Amino acid sequence: MAHIPEDAAARRAIKPVICYPNETLPVPPMALYQTARATARKVGEVLVPAREARCFTVPAGQFFRISSVDGPQVGDLNLWNAQDLNERFYSGKTRALHGTHLTTGMRMWSSFPALRPMATIVEDTLEWYGKDEWGGSVHDVIGTRCDPYTGNLLSGSQYHHCCHSNLTRALADETGLDPKVAERQVHDVLNVFMCTGFTRDTGQYFMKASPVRPGDYLEFFAEIDLLGALSACPGGDCSTEHSSDSATCHPLLVEVFEPAIKALQDWTPPPVNGYDRSHGLG
Ligand SMILES: [Zn+2]
Repeated sequence: MAHIPEDAAARRAIKPVICYPNETLPVPPMALYQTARATARKVGEVLVPAREARCFTVPAGQFFRISSVDGPQVGDLNLWNAQDLNERFYSGKTRALHGTHLTTGMRMWSSFPALRPMATIVEDTLEWYGKDEWGGSVHDVIGTRCDPYTGNLLSGSQYHHCCHSNLTRALADETGLDPKVAERQVHDVLNVFMCTGFTRDTGQYFMKASPVRPGDYLEFFAEIDLLGALSACPGGDCSTEHSSDSATCHPLLVEVFEPAIKALQDWTPPPVNGYDRSHGLG
């Protein structure tokens, strides 16, 4: 082992500071969203088959809900600005701002240079789960999405229904993009219903059987016009493995709800980030 300095204990004992204190983040108007939601009617739905993905659109100011229907199932969610696919969900910055797992009142933030809220979580029936004894929690922004490249790297497999491939096919279908072009738009996900954490001893990413049951849901308010894609992960409830057809899998339901006219009062979609984008170049 490398040399241990004499003041090692003192250095380890330094208290951490939060990287991004979030007291100054704009606070979502949750009461307004709740009032508007109470007036909303369902305007669309998409059933995502097991081991497949489907796209859906949600105009700014509407709500969308992802529900477990037949059995415990994890979903991998991508979001894009419906008018500009280059603005898409930024998992890493969302993690930096809110922490490793999302729940009610937290937001999915978009990529640079927009860096604005794309969607706000307005209801989470799994909020009760909190953190378990292993540090596990639900709806993470720490994983990426299961993909065939990592599967090939680790086991030499050629599996075509990983979330990455499912999302690629769904986006190509929805947009007419060549699948090779669509693939480049697929990004790290919000792992809906997935129960994950890091092991304390080795710091490794772990998963365990999702606590989700039929009837559970995660609901969002669309802050901007959204194109979404949701994959019903081949890992099923992610209790054992993914990247194969061996886990039991179930569909997921996406429903879209439109509030009554004027229910959102003078609400407008958030503007793109206010940084002047000069990067010091004048
Ligand atoms: Zn997956």
